Amino acid sequence: MKNSKKVIVSLSTVCLAVFILSSTVFAQMESYRWKSTFTSTGALKLGISTQYAAGGSYTATDITNGISHWKNATTNLNLSTTSFSNSNVDIMAVSEEQWFNNGWGDDTYAFSQLYDGSFQCNSGITTNYCNSSNSISYAAIYINYEKSTGGLLTSAATKTDRRRGIVAHELGHVFTIHHNGLIGVDSIMKQATFNDNNWVSSPALVDISDINNNY
Ligand SMILES: [Zn+2]
Repeated sequence: MKNSKKVIVSLSTVCLAVFILSSTVFAQMESYRWKSTFTSTGALKLGISTQYAAGGSYTATDITNGISHWKNATTNLNLSTTSFSNSNVDIMAVSEEQWFNNGWGDDTYAFSQLYDGSFQCNSGITTNYCNSSNSISYAAIYINYEKSTGGLLTSAATKTDRRRGIVAHELGHVFTIHHNGLIGVDSIMKQATFNDNNWVSSPALVDISDINNNY
């Protein structure tokens, strides 16, 4: 009896240690950040162009609403919309044909390409070459605007919610958050977006913490 209690105590100590360790190891952030000139005000300050963002079922309102999901959250973000020539982030509508011709497959709703100077973080839509030695200076978000956001309907979000949520999800990548794999934790950064039970169409607590702990 005494011995088994000892085992239980040491097991729970191990569990606690693993929990503490994993909350550090699995912070939902990439290893790289934006260049310090973008964070000198104590917030990540970015100008976003929406000039070429609307297309297909993605209306201009969907795009601005997706950006507002982050503007309305209490985060260390300073986001403004600006002209294409002055922007640090461009949101671009891409037809399904062009998407396919780019080699981006047929099962992706959107894709964010981050740059360190002229160096592209991503080759294709899966491999990320950027690491802690990189500093981001520009990002492009490509929206596969003809792809239906019907999905498997596991979340109650409407198609409109989903389109706006996709814009917000991609902005999360631009803010250097990667996919949230935490089981049972709500996040806008779920890889399967609205086909994941814990996907939400606006930044959730964990997403906001990720921003505020890093900027
Ligand atoms: Zn994603």
